[in-house]
Amino acid sequence: MNLATWVERHGRRLRDDPALATGEDVHATWGELAARVAGGAGGLRDRLGLEPGDRVAIVMGNRPEYLEVQYAAWHAGLVAVPVNARLHRDEIAYVLEHSGARVAVTDDEHAEDVGALLERVGTLEAVVRAPGPEWEGLRTAAPVPLTDRGTDDPAWLFYTSGTTGRPKGATLTHGNLLMASLSYFADIDPVASTDSVLHAAPLSHGSGLYGLPHVAKGAVSVFTEGTVDGARLLTLTRRWPGLSFFAAPIMVRRLAGDEALRDADLSGLKTIIYGGAPMYLADLEAALGTFGPRLAQIYGQGETPMTITGLSKADHAGTDHPRWRERMQSVGFPRTDVDVRVVDPDDRAVPTGEVGEVLVRGGVVMSGYWQAEEATAETLRGGWLHTGDVGSLDEDGFLTLKDRSKDLIISGGMNIYPREVEEALLTHPQVEAVAVVGRPDPEWGESVVAFVVPGDDPPSSEDLDRTCLDRIARFKRPKEYHLVDALPTNSYGKVLKRELREQLAGE
Ligand code: AMP
Repeated sequence: MNLATWVERHGRRLRDDPALATGEDVHATWGELAARVAGGAGGLRDRLGLEPGDRVAIVMGNRPEYLEVQYAAWHAGLVAVPVNARLHRDEIAYVLEHSGARVAVTDDEHAEDVGALLERVGTLEAVVRAPGPEWEGLRTAAPVPLTDRGTDDPAWLFYTSGTTGRPKGATLTHGNLLMASLSYFADIDPVASTDSVLHAAPLSHGSGLYGLPHVAKGAVSVFTEGTVDGARLLTLTRRWPGLSFFAAPIMVRRLAGDEALRDADLSGLKTIIYGGAPMYLADLEAALGTFGPRLAQIYGQGETPMTITGLSKADHAGTDHPRWRERMQSVGFPRTDVDVRVVDPDDRAVPTGEVGEVLVRGGVVMSGYWQAEEATAETLRGGWLHTGDVGSLDEDGFLTLKDRSKDLIISGGMNIYPREVEEALLTHPQVEAVAVVGRPDPEWGESVVAFVVPGDDPPSSEDLDRTCLDRIARFKRPKEYHLVDALPTNSYGKVLKRELREQLAGE
């Protein structure tokens, strides 16, 4: 089925209910959105001459028109290429060129950069601004009927955030995204048309993916300007109760410490879905203190859109379970629709408790990388998605991630998982953030180095050492501590350990 079917259906059944909102105001009802989507599809097909299967890049900040364009593209049978708008112009050029986008839709903020690409990107024929008269002109075109799409037809080219090398476009089909949405209902949360989803993170990534099950059920998609702080969140939960949102761990941590949320009435807040990067136990406990059991964790990748394992709200609430703490440090239990395996370098399953690469198989796994046969064959070899993540399954089936395989530190022949050292250091009250990496060492192979963002009263190396020695084996403790103002992150907030290693190499 075509995912745009949802909008068309709600346009009839929920005609006067809100579909899109900006802050507290309704931007469009389902009736209006369905009309704009069918009209926009007509504009893209008839005025711009696009054919089913052609790619349309969306380079926009989060705004309601984003979803108008995305669903219009799907309605027209086109493939959406949501590009992270925070990328550098050259990186955007690469994604447009590689995906062969014929049209790019952008907003005022990015119009100059994207407009300049018309000359540079061979396939690009038009750049459309939304909101504004250009998109207005397209979306008021004569509507076209919904294009029939099968489960194997591509819907979304998800260019991976690229902490290494050139980004690759995970080809997500209508079937993959449908499965990811159904899996959300199965394992994370049911959704009703009276609910809402707040887009507090980029729509080109997690927030866009979690928006899908909400659109499927006719909930309101809520947009807001600027960063979401505690006061803003409270206002929005009052106006749009039943509110859920996706947030990277770093944002959950920030909100958990927001004074405005202390002892506040959070009855309008339904679920915070966090994931995309490690959530450290100390931060999770603080978040549960602020939000109560409204947190659900997901572990996934662009290649298997946010669907490998999950920790449900019930898991978070089960504090009387004897292994609750371990479970909270895990990424949860395999999702209903996937097989998950942990394997050795020859792809043989390792025994329970042993560490290996995480593999995934199921209807949610991408069909392949766009125009990259070799990388596809390598990543999907044997019919399993090779995630590049390293972890272990416990006897109950919960998966604990160690690190990306390339982040593993081998010192004196011993494997050291940076995450364990980071978890230990974060228990120190004067450690705001930390990243642990390996430095080449002639004697040990690698030595452990910690980059620490301190609080107001910076801790000494001895103090940090003591914190580690109280919690982890001596050989794992860092040999060096570097106090820094901030950690380098990519545009989705993931720490770039590669840059830290390069920094050490350049010393
Ligand atoms: P991306 O494809 O950009 O979403 O990045 C996916 C990667 O983020 C995964 O392969 C993991 O390394 C990491 N990741 C995603 N979810 C989690 C999680 N819940 N905990 C730890 N790391 C995660």
